[in-house]
Amino acid sequence: MKKKAIYPGSFDPITFGHLDLLKRSCKLFDDLTIAVVVNPHKKALFTVDERVAMIKMATKKYRNVKIDKFDGLLVDYAKKVKANVIIRGLRAIADFEYEFQMALVNRSLYKPLDMVYMMPSVEYTYLSSSIVREVASLGGDVSGFVSTFIAGKLKEKFNNA
Ligand code: ADP
Repeated sequence: MKKKAIYPGSFDPITFGHLDLLKRSCKLFDDLTIAVVVNPHKKALFTVDERVAMIKMATKKYRNVKIDKFDGLLVDYAKKVKANVIIRGLRAIADFEYEFQMALVNRSLYKPLDMVYMMPSVEYTYLSSSIVREVASLGGDVSGFVSTFIAGKLKEKFNNA
């Protein structure tokens, strides 16, 4: 049976930390979908479609990776696409409490669901999309954190703001 997993998140924008996790996950799963959460209550820098387009560009070398977007409950999306593994990242210690809660809540909503947590390379354990947005908004160099074309997109956003 093919192993199918979902990697959900905001990806606002996709960083080298996300890509590190993706590379690891590709070795474990035959079919991997990066699913961008459509959350009208969370103010994002990039629109969902912009984020999807950037993810497509950043991941085109991975043949078993698909990109999608979803709204509503993650468990409902997982049922719809027939995936029972969710991939999430664990950075330093900050992610643990929230992820622990989400894992148990999601599993109680949908029993067959399992969460797989992965740790990135040590140089990305501090990296988040929000810090990248912050640095870019202040005119800092983000080339160590995101692909060149995403650094360009960030520049465009903040120059036009
Ligand atoms: P969310 O808003 O759902 O947390 P993010 O785009 O911030 O969405 O993150 C999606 C997933 O990727 C989360 O599981 C997060 O922990 C993980 N992630 C983000 N950045 C990193 C990183 N630098 N290293 C490891 N995992 C990361």
